[in-house]
Amino acid sequence: MSKNVVVIGGGIIGLSTAYYLQKEGHQVTVIDKSNFSTGASYVNAGYITPSHFISLAAPGMITKGIKWMFNASSPFYVKPRLDLDFLKWTLAFKKSATKAKVEKAIPVIKDINIFSRDLYEEIKASNDFNFHYERKGLLMCYQSEKVGEEEWEIGQRGIEEGLGVKNLSKKEVAELEPDANLNVKGAVYFHSDAHMTPSDFMPQMVAYLKSKNVQIIANEEVKDIGVSNKKITNVHTNRTSYEADEVVLAAGSWSPLLTKKLGIAIPVQAGKGYRINVNRNTGITIPAILCEAKVAVTPMDGFTRFAGTMEVGGINHDINPVRVNAIANAAKSYYHELEISSKEKTAAQCGLRPCSPDGLPYIGKSSKCANLTIATGHAMMGWSLGPATGKLITEIISNKKPSLDLNPFHPDRKF
Ligand SMILES: Cc1cc2nc3c(=O)[nH]c(=O)nc-3n(C[C@H](O)[C@H](O)[C@H](O)COP(=O)(O)OP(=O)(O)OC[C@H]3O[C@@H](n4cnc5c(N)ncnc54)[C@H](O)[C@@H]3O)c2cc1C
Repeated sequence: MSKNVVVIGGGIIGLSTAYYLQKEGHQVTVIDKSNFSTGASYVNAGYITPSHFISLAAPGMITKGIKWMFNASSPFYVKPRLDLDFLKWTLAFKKSATKAKVEKAIPVIKDINIFSRDLYEEIKASNDFNFHYERKGLLMCYQSEKVGEEEWEIGQRGIEEGLGVKNLSKKEVAELEPDANLNVKGAVYFHSDAHMTPSDFMPQMVAYLKSKNVQIIANEEVKDIGVSNKKITNVHTNRTSYEADEVVLAAGSWSPLLTKKLGIAIPVQAGKGYRINVNRNTGITIPAILCEAKVAVTPMDGFTRFAGTMEVGGINHDINPVRVNAIANAAKSYYHELEISSKEKTAAQCGLRPCSPDGLPYIGKSSKCANLTIATGHAMMGWSLGPATGKLITEIISNKKPSLDLNPFHPDRKF
């Protein structure tokens, strides 16, 4: 049965959801307060990441976080705040950071990533689009033996999970990337991963949805949600009001501000990350993570992107030049002679990752509202998980059997 669905938020999660909803015959409206050109879904590193099966809430991150808190150029930073939601999130993060919980999440994260990667490939093969997508894998590049050993341990865990992973020597890395001039001891190579250019895919998806009669509403902010008998009746924006049979909340880092109005608490904190684009030939052809610096490098369509930092410091888009510099310095240290110019650094942009405490997204309905489906909290994997999330949300709304077990993603889960 066709339903009238309002999707709040037009980032990768909202647009992917609209894509599968319209395919299933639903009437869809996507509302976004931005103009569909900025934010996390545009500045990200574009990795499709079956390799990222270890969540951010891993043992050791709390200690690292505390240590890094005093270093302005560190890749992970948590700004202490006397804010109840933040304190609850921190506690939930701490509770999630156990070996047993991380182990349990590994197959869940891997499976949803592979499912999503396959869906991207299906979208690409549909011939409705012409976007940049390459499956060249991901090099986890390291400069110290210790980090190399740690990465290879993760690589071996990946092999146990059925992923193709190789441990490459310095010479083998140089043979793979002959023009990149890498300054590393070696790399762990995950063959499972792919990469894309977000600023290429997003406008194509908006245009496609418009052509399929999806209403795309830009520059309009959802301010309130009308509820009667545990059901949403209206979505109120700064301009007008929309009726809906079903509402999907895909508002990224802003999502908890809206669920609060419904008495639903979904712990999400914004994790700010930065990107620098380099519009000249860098010789880099395979995506890499510069492990010690935690910087992501992606050869995109016509430029190379350097992205990094995870700054949990509330909702704002302030650019901290110290962190931008740290990304540029990492690039110089891992790629001989790669100097990122002041102009390139000045053009840096940031985006907010919607981080759940356990690193798993929220995909599903809360017991507190019958016609609200939540799709957020994807943290570092939102780009990868767009299609999988969109497909799963559509299956929920269409009362179909979900392609994956949804229990690990339940919005009412306890930490
Ligand atoms: C530097 C960086 C690198 C990254 N690299 C990768 C990567 O390589 N691979 C990967 O998988 N992920 C990566 N990520 C994470 C990924 O980008 C995010 O998880 C993903 O973009 C989140 O998508 P979203 O649609 O949930 O949120 P957003 O993209 O934030 O979209 C939410 C939208 O909701 C809108 N909105 C909010 N409130 C309202 C309201 N009240 N009314 C109307 N509209 C509203 C906002 O304007 C926004 O457009 C990276 C992120 C960053 C910052």
